[in-house]
Amino acid sequence: MKGRVVKICTSFIDVPDKISVAVYFAGCTIRCKECQNPGLWDSKVGTEVSEEVVVKKIKKNSLAEYAVFMGGEPTDQLEFLISICEKVTFYKKAMYTGREFEDLPDRLTKSLDLIVCGPYREDFFVEGRWPASSNQRVFRKEGKVWICDCS
Ligand code: SF4
Repeated sequence: MKGRVVKICTSFIDVPDKISVAVYFAGCTIRCKECQNPGLWDSKVGTEVSEEVVVKKIKKNSLAEYAVFMGGEPTDQLEFLISICEKVTFYKKAMYTGREFEDLPDRLTKSLDLIVCGPYREDFFVEGRWPASSNQRVFRKEGKVWICDCS
């Protein structure tokens, strides 16, 4: 299966206190007013790649603990995303999405360990907070149960 990806790079900030490999998906149909990445809205940006190529690039960073899927909106390429998640069995997996947790399909969430949900909103911005706006919720999987850090 193929999809469009803009960038794959090492990240020290997207999963706090962890080294991760960030995969930036192309395209976002949510289009929040205060999006910080509007350059990734167009689904034709980036390059078309196979899931095998993405997985291979993620695997290159042997120091990473997480693969983190972001964008753009990763769930706009749902089948491609699920297919990558199922093959990345060597790291934990995180995702940033503008959608709410309750709207995500089980066949996606079962392959993830950490999900940051909801759009970035300037009017909910809190200095020093992760994630940056207080409407965004963080879900962590403990065993098979999802726990929300809804502070
Ligand atoms: S969901 Fe994310 S990428 Fe999409 S518009 Fe909102 S903030 Fe931007």
